[in-house]
Amino acid sequence: MIEMRKETRDLLEKYKTVWALNHASQVMRWDLETYMPLEGVSARGTSLSEVSLLAQKFTLELRPEIDALARAKDLTDQERGMVRVLSRRLDYYSKVPSDLISRIQKATTEARVAWRQARSKSDFNFFKPHLENLLELKKEEGARLAEGGDAYDALLDQSEEGLTSSIIDQIFSKLIPSLKQLLAKVSSDSIFTGKHELEEAKYDISAMAKLNSDILSVLDMPQNRFRMDISAHPFTTGFDIDDVRITTRYEGIDFKASMYSTIHESGHAIYELQISKELALTPLARGASSGFHESQSRFWENVVGRSKEFIQLIEPYIKRHLAFTSKHDTDSLYRYVNVVRPSKIRVDADELTYNFHIALRYKIERQLFEGKAEVSEVPQLWDDTLEEYLGIRPNNDAEGCLQDIHWSHGGFASFPNYTVGNVIAGMCHERISKELEFRELIQQKKIKEIKEWLGRNIHQYGSTYSPKELQQKVFGKLYDPTPLLEYLRFKFTG
Ligand code: MG
Repeated sequence: MIEMRKETRDLLEKYKTVWALNHASQVMRWDLETYMPLEGVSARGTSLSEVSLLAQKFTLELRPEIDALARAKDLTDQERGMVRVLSRRLDYYSKVPSDLISRIQKATTEARVAWRQARSKSDFNFFKPHLENLLELKKEEGARLAEGGDAYDALLDQSEEGLTSSIIDQIFSKLIPSLKQLLAKVSSDSIFTGKHELEEAKYDISAMAKLNSDILSVLDMPQNRFRMDISAHPFTTGFDIDDVRITTRYEGIDFKASMYSTIHESGHAIYELQISKELALTPLARGASSGFHESQSRFWENVVGRSKEFIQLIEPYIKRHLAFTSKHDTDSLYRYVNVVRPSKIRVDADELTYNFHIALRYKIERQLFEGKAEVSEVPQLWDDTLEEYLGIRPNNDAEGCLQDIHWSHGGFASFPNYTVGNVIAGMCHERISKELEFRELIQQKKIKEIKEWLGRNIHQYGSTYSPKELQQKVFGKLYDPTPLLEYLRFKFTG
């Protein structure tokens, strides 16, 4: 984009206001989650919603410039990407009336409070009317977007461009039976199953912070463009290619939770940090999609971070900062970070059982959207499906259908992105292993070469390409769960 045509210059000049408003709300949101005193929440909420209305207004005003660029000849990939990304936003606003958007916003604000109350009392009935209301509103939103097509698919496309329920059905029809077999095999020997002593070990938070900071150095995170803070629910936010933030968490027990939050979020951050600087201040300066983003965080967390080679690499740091690990050798540490155990809670799930949790939520969402199940049946449906998949039953609603915050945010059709992320992480592993001596590079602490490969093949493009275009470009295929299964098979059964 060195020589920009007039249409592109005009569009980007006008887009700068939208960019700045988004930048401002990201800073406000980051502050809200990290440093803001509790009572600041009401003023911050008002401010955020005013800024987002402004961003919406200025986005809608981009219409003539977007149309002018779309009409121009011989668009570059980047120009096509800008038209695509911005047209999707305009399309949303033109199909979904602002009255519906504000009804959804109001309903989610109330639902969040009700969900918290319901979860603390472990009683679905507190949440039920809110879920019913939100479901109706989201069905309406989906129907508006679908224009006669499938409402759920329309919502899926909003959260992951181009994703449909038929793609997800294909993924799960392959993944679920194979994972069941694999899980049975892994459970029959005792290498990865059974409790590990370190799961109960308490740690000192300041010592753990030093370990996390050493891990950031191993991952070669740039000091002047990146920082890490603390929040209850870890997240990543890229204010700009040169200012990317992550957070991590400290529970004081079972240190792998904090360690892998740090590595997971670093994976998201590496993506944002390696977007081409040419794309700064454009609508393309973010990851291709949430599924692609999740693939990168999972790749670093699981494929790299939970490998034997990575454990060998960071073992000296673990031992230096957490003295209670001294009697555990590499094998023991490796087993500790890879314990396989069917769990009721999604966020605690290991690599082998995680996707069952997503299949369960997807199954329930589909039934709700197709009118095959009522909201009142959700707790029963949840418990039965978990038992079918993993052979365990929640003891109460808090451990079951109330565990995740997503539905209270109106987040239907967004869980499948996590499995899409795992599938794409598997595809990355297959491809990178063909081109690099991947495991040796980890062993030799040449993390930079792995980062460069991902930067060259995926990260640099930002959202220039749609998730499907990018998969075709990098892997020559779409949503293939086989590499993920092969990776898991090799790892857990040799
Ligand atoms: Mg993530």
